[in-house]
Amino acid sequence: MSVSDVLSLARPEIRAFRPYSSARMEADEASVMLNANEAWGNGSSDGGVLLNRYPEPQPGGLRARLAELYEVAGDNVLMTRGSDEGMDLLLRAFCRAGKDAILITPPTFGMYAISAGVQGAGVVEAPLDAGFGVDVDAILDAVSPAMKLVFLCSPNNPTGTLTPLAKIERLATALAGRALLVVDEAYIEFADAPSAAALLPRHANLVVLRTLSKAWALAAARVGVVLAHREVAALLERILAPYPLPAPSVELVLQALSRPEAMRERIGRVRGERERMAGLLGALTGVREVLPSAANFLAVRFDDAHAIQARLAAAGIVVRDLSGQPRLADALRITIARSEDNDAVLDALCESAYGGVAG
Ligand SMILES: *Cc1c(COP(=O)(O)O)cnc(C)c1O
Repeated sequence: MSVSDVLSLARPEIRAFRPYSSARMEADEASVMLNANEAWGNGSSDGGVLLNRYPEPQPGGLRARLAELYEVAGDNVLMTRGSDEGMDLLLRAFCRAGKDAILITPPTFGMYAISAGVQGAGVVEAPLDAGFGVDVDAILDAVSPAMKLVFLCSPNNPTGTLTPLAKIERLATALAGRALLVVDEAYIEFADAPSAAALLPRHANLVVLRTLSKAWALAAARVGVVLAHREVAALLERILAPYPLPAPSVELVLQALSRPEAMRERIGRVRGERERMAGLLGALTGVREVLPSAANFLAVRFDDAHAIQARLAAAGIVVRDLSGQPRLADALRITIARSEDNDAVLDALCESAYGGVAG
């Protein structure tokens, strides 16, 4: 699929319009900067971050580090306010209100349908198969000319299921000329599996969403990344807010990226705790099934999920109720945390299994 085929799927008015040109885009280096109505002074905070000036719209240093991290070229990288903003940009650039649609594979992450709703785009569903795997044929059967984006989440939130790269490649190939395939890899670091970003050079219609919010423990910094063909990234940048990334966030992300060992260590601990919890939870009375997870959470089916949720709440533990998701009415999603917090979950559940000893 050539990139012009991909760009022809975008809203014509977005391709045609002239984006806002911020002062910082036009000039960002002179001894006296009088083009952006900023305050004078050195403006630096205790941490040394320059606060009186608008930040770089797409900070070059961070872009280079992220390109290295994700093993793509710098112009494949677009930094956004969380990957939630990446989803929103895709919807706004590719879907005309009242005309176009996206495809989702329920049970899956809720934000794709929310972004579609905000944009006035339709939502078509191709449910996951019996084992919560992606059903490629069901997706291809559901594709229509109105459908511009196919969202896959791998590992999937809330089931934890990983989609093999071969399946992603098969879909990207089959969708060429028809739709973009957006693979949300918010949890891929926990999976010990290759990123779909490796397929970008061969598939212009592929978009991969990454985030610093989960494995990098930077949810409050709000930095997400769209990895895409450079012309798709450039199209999305046209509709991105002028100065999306706060300088303190950029600084914090750079600091975290300079300590990859801390991240790897955390991933190792999460994986170890995930396997321990899956084994112990699976053996408890009242637990129907622990879904195999490649992420930092477990979806667990119970005989009485609501009673379990109440029991956990009484112990001061909140988990995610999945009863609104198709085929998960009896399930809760439990984040894998520090071992002492995981133990607290097990303790509360053991009490409930033996008839409710204490609250
Ligand atoms: C947590 C999560 C994200 C990350 O969102 P940010 O806006 O980057 O914090 C993206 N996709 C899924 C499926 C998630 O669960």
